[in-house]
Amino acid sequence: MSVSNSGASLPYRLRLPGPTAVPGRVLQAAARPMVAHRGPEFLARFKSIQQRLQPIIGRGGVPPFLFASTGIGAMESAMVNVAGPGKRVLITTNGQWGPVFRRLAEGIGAEADEVISPLGAPVDLDGVRKALAEKDYAAVFTVHSESSTGALTDLEALGAIVAESDAVLCCDSVSGLAGTEMKADAWGVDVVVSASQKCLMCPPGIGIASISEKAWGVIDRDDRGPRGYFDYRKFRPMAEKGEPTYTAPVAMLNALGEALAMIGETGLAKTLARHKRHNRALTAGLEALGFSVFPTATPSPTLVVVRTPEGISAPTLIDHLLKRYNCVVAGSRFEELKDRLVRIGTMGWVGDEDIRTDLGQIAAALRDLGGAADDKDALAAADAALAA
Ligand SMILES: *Cc1c(COP(=O)(O)O)cnc(C)c1O
Repeated sequence: MSVSNSGASLPYRLRLPGPTAVPGRVLQAAARPMVAHRGPEFLARFKSIQQRLQPIIGRGGVPPFLFASTGIGAMESAMVNVAGPGKRVLITTNGQWGPVFRRLAEGIGAEADEVISPLGAPVDLDGVRKALAEKDYAAVFTVHSESSTGALTDLEALGAIVAESDAVLCCDSVSGLAGTEMKADAWGVDVVVSASQKCLMCPPGIGIASISEKAWGVIDRDDRGPRGYFDYRKFRPMAEKGEPTYTAPVAMLNALGEALAMIGETGLAKTLARHKRHNRALTAGLEALGFSVFPTATPSPTLVVVRTPEGISAPTLIDHLLKRYNCVVAGSRFEELKDRLVRIGTMGWVGDEDIRTDLGQIAAALRDLGGAADDKDALAAADAALAA
């Protein structure tokens, strides 16, 4: 790989933890001619999208709901359907997304309690257990893959705790679904929400929600404020017929259908294994370059969150990677971590060569900035992990 050129002449590399790079096949599917969203051709595709999502979510019952929305819209859809004015909800916070759930709860007049753990730490399961023993909650909200810190949540353990209460467990799996295991039925995850632009390797624009019968028991009650566009009571009968609720975002769903076909060709188990493999390889390579893994929780396989080597400013490195190498990686929004944190996606459409190129460009950038990075060690470490 040549690193002597200026950034402008190198290929643009979208290496964020979302939105992620999209395969050509998926982009071409989005460019198909428009068809009627209730015509036979599109409905067949819609049903196949629902069916292909079921095993990825690990849900056998109610088909998933699909709508035009970003991830936060999908999070809001869960909130307005299980909570409302005066309802009490419990939120696990160990990064950026728990507080988003809190704002959504407060926005509809719900009472939100938070179980807070340090950034990068696992969800405080004992804290959840205690809170559920002390008060009645309508729902518990959690985040599967905390993309601000790289922490993966043990949903099986959390699900077992919440299952002993009347509360429904709602999970933001925007950066988890299709990149790390989700067994919604088996783990007791009553509402799973996700979006198209992360591990599902599509452009942004589709929200996904999947509900259990336990969640339906709460959703179907008429005891709270208006739910507007996201009212799951309008979605369920349509989803069961295999139809979109409103005018479907046809082009985006064509893209999602193609991406799911690609995941089907690879196989779900292999797709999840690929995420782990790439995550381990990038982590090993970055460690060889002097970076250190940030989360103290089990790291999510869908992104790598690391501290920069001593003396290297993360914003400077990120800026240099973009300007000189045309490579886009993310930093941190947390004031206390901003100087040192770098976040890189290993989600969706990532290949072995992406990981090698990441390490080559990052090593070169470190040298440009006056460091002494040796890409040979980094590539050897990554290759060993890729071969494992
Ligand atoms: C990316 C991400 C979101 C994204 O929300 P948008 O509204 O699509 O920007 C939400 N939650 C998590 C955990 C994410 O990683």
